[in-house]
Order: sequence, then structure tokens, then C-alpha cells
Amino acid sequence: ASPLNLHSTILIVGGGGTLGSSTALHLARKGYRDIRVLDVYPIPSAQSAGNDTNKIMGISLRNPVDKQLSLEAEDLWTNDPTFAPYYHQTGQLECSGSVSGIENLKVTLHELQEAGLGDTAEWLENEDEILERVPQLSRSEIQGWKGLFFRRSGWLAAAKAIESVGRELVQHGVQFSFGDSGTFQSLILSDDGKICLGVLTKDGTRHLADRIVLASGAWSPSLVDLEDQCCSKCWVFAHMRLSPDEAKYFAGCPVVYNEDIGFFMEPNEAGIIKVCDEFPGFTRYKMHQPFGASQPKKISVPRSHARHPTDTYPDASEVTIKKAIATFLPSFKDKELFNRTMCWCTDTPDANLLICEDPRWRNFFLATGDSGHSFKLLPIIGKHIVELLEGTLQQDMLQAWRWRPGSGDARKSRRAAPAKDLADLPGWKHA
Ligand code: FAD
Repeated sequence: ASPLNLHSTILIVGGGGTLGSSTALHLARKGYRDIRVLDVYPIPSAQSAGNDTNKIMGISLRNPVDKQLSLEAEDLWTNDPTFAPYYHQTGQLECSGSVSGIENLKVTLHELQEAGLGDTAEWLENEDEILERVPQLSRSEIQGWKGLFFRRSGWLAAAKAIESVGRELVQHGVQFSFGDSGTFQSLILSDDGKICLGVLTKDGTRHLADRIVLASGAWSPSLVDLEDQCCSKCWVFAHMRLSPDEAKYFAGCPVVYNEDIGFFMEPNEAGIIKVCDEFPGFTRYKMHQPFGASQPKKISVPRSHARHPTDTYPDASEVTIKKAIATFLPSFKDKELFNRTMCWCTDTPDANLLICEDPRWRNFFLATGDSGHSFKLLPIIGKHIVELLEGTLQQDMLQAWRWRPGSGDARKSRRAAPAKDLADLPGWKHA
């Protein structure tokens, strides 16, 4: 295996998505000249979890690595011209009316204070204080709620931000293979099976490379055997369209998040509001043989809206989405919903990323395990993935993101309960 240099050929499988496009961007910005992005769909890939109207941006304090990453990401979302137009710093209200939810808010405030960031959040003790921050909420629906208001938070125009990365990649001369010639089929290994030499794609093309990065999000465990370190799950959302007057009233509304109910953000320029419920995700288990597995095994395999446009979401989700609307936006509870969608991510047991060299095949690197909270890292995560390739990744990141089979239950992860399976949930499949 040759040492990495600026002329090395680097393949990024899933480079039309979040972690993959960020990796290509940081490689290109560092001067690497021979980068090829492989993806099923052109960037921003229609099946990327990041190809969405909006995502929440906030500072995560879950551990020192998350804190560092989110502060670095915040800097680029604010100051880097490729990203800054897509960050809407509206602030975020995290709120709850349940005993456990309020307790969690207090823990978060304490953690912020311990981290020296106490002044970025404001405790809201009652309905009056919440309504002062978010007058669009309805007093009757938030009785007994308390809240935390985060000033350094807001939402990201997600698909547009990946598209912006794509434009910069073109300027840098990054090469792209989309469709069948970008669709991963298997790894190409050396005769002794110890070194990864490239990727065979669906159309039969053999893409040879010095380094291969698998950043295929929820598809990662079904493409390559990850030995149960990741479990892919979907979450759901629906859209509704506001009239121009309604959209005006909600313009600038902070992100509203309640861990027991869900979340929404201000409408986009077309007057569309996306509403999400909050739950532990849905799996789709089936017998499947990823590359590297000696036989088929039970794996949760994503089924994308892009490939199956008539799919919606389970009937049970209609109930919880409607509950979120009735609570957050009661005047819109009879509005027509559209774009009912399932969107796929992949959880690790500890909710840390899985970003490491695969110990089975030299030169093959994993950049996955997003655990449902990694879109906000789009501007920065690629920098650290490049550091991994170059052998300079800092120790705590190496440790947090290491290869770690047997370390816990990815189906449950750190969520309130194990995910239910789509096979047991009617209503989402229409073809
Ligand atoms: P993706 O962005 O999904 O990229 C994977 C790529 O792999 C895709 O482009 C896909 O086309 C490609 N691929 C798949 N199969 C193949 C193949 N065979 N060959 C080649 N390429 C392939 N995060 C936040 O930070 N804030 C939020 O508010 C937030 N809200 C969310 C709400 C919902 C409903 C969901 C589902 C997720 C949310 N997330 C949020 C999580 C965030 O979207 C993900 O963590 C992140 O986008 C995952 O990035 P990724 O690069 O791992 O995967």
C-alpha cells in the first residue's frame, strides 16, 4: 500500500450525502487532486438523510468530542461562504411539560453552565416566559411547560447546503460517478484479501483507488458487514403549506423542540412547514448478505423514498405527527399534509460516530454511524475524516469513533426504547 499524498486516488462511496460530501470538500480544499465521489443519485443525493428542507443546528454537550465538533461546525456555518447562507440563527426553544422532560432540561442547563456556555441559554419558568420567546405557540397547549431558550441555535437549509458543497466540489475538479456507475456493489480486494483496492459498482466498473471511504449513511451496514455496530432506522416527517399571511406570522419563529412530542421550524421561502414527531425510530429487518458476511444475516435495510416515491409512513405516525401539530400549531390542525416521508439514519450503540480504518481491509475507511444527529456537522466532519486518512486524528476522536463490535445494542442505542419494525406497522407501503 502506497503512502497517502496529494496525487493519491481517493474514492468516496456515498459522496452525494452528508459525511461523504464533507469529506470530498476537505480533501479538495487541502489540495488532493484525484478524488472521485460515487453515489446512487447526483449530489445532493435524493436518498441522503441530509436532502431535506431543514435540520436543527445547536451546540451538543454530550461529550467533549461532540462539544468540540459542534463549536467548530458553528464557526463554519457562521463564517464560511459555502455554508453561511444556509444557517438561520432563529434560536431554539427546548421545552417540556413532563417531569422527566423538565428534569432533562435542568440537566442540560447545568451542563451548559459547567461548560462555560451558561450565558448562551435562558431558563423559561412558565408559559408567560415561553410565550415571550415564541408568541406563535398557543397558551392552552403549553400549560405547565418549562423551557430553555438557546440563542446560538437555529435551523439549516439542509439540501441547499449540500448542493452548495457540490458546487464547490465541481470548482475543485472533483470527479463524480452517479447512477449505476456510482452504486456500490462490492469491494475489490488484493489476492490475499487483506488490502482494499477499490470498489466494483453496479454497472461492472472497477474503480481502483489508494484509499476508499464508505460514507453511505443508513445503507452502510447493508453494503458492508459492520458486525452489528450500526442499526439503520427511519424517522418521519410531513409538510404543510401556509398561506402568505400565515407564513409571515411564523417567519423568524425559533425552532421548537419537545422530546415527548417532536419539533418544527419556521416556514421556508415557499411557506412550507415540516413537522416531525419524536420516537425511537423504525427498523426494516430482513435477511440480507452484505459484503464481508459469510452468509445472509438479519439486517435493517433502508428503503428510500427516492426509489419508492409512493411510500409514506405508518398509520401510527399520522397520529403522532397530528398530535405534534395540534400541540405546537393548533390553528393548523386541519391543514392538509403532504410529503409524508420516512428518512433513514444509522444508530451505533453509544450514538458516537463510526469513523475508522476497517481492521479487516487496509486502506478501507468507514465514515458512518451518524446516529440521527450529524447533519449539523456537514461543514466540519470531513476535516476530521481527512485527518484519519492522514494519520493525524486526535486521540479522543480515534477512541470515540473506533471499530467496536460487541460494544452494545445498536437497535436500542441511547433511545428511550428499541425501535419497532416496519413489518409490524401498517400504512406506509402503497405499491
Ligand atoms: P446520508 O447523508 O444519508 O448519505 C448517505 C449517502 O450514501 C447517500 O447520498 C446515499 O445515496 C449514498 N448511498 C447509499 N447506498 C449507496 C450505494 N450502494 N452506493 C453509493 N452510494 C450509496 N441531524 C441534525 O444534525 N439535526 C437535525 O435536526 C436532524 N434532523 C433529522 C430529522 C430526520 C427526520 C432524520 C431522518 C435525520 C435527522 N438528522 C438531523 C440526522 C442527519 O440527517 C444524519 O445524521 C446525516 O444526514 C447522516 O449523514 P450520512 O452522510 O451518514 O448519510
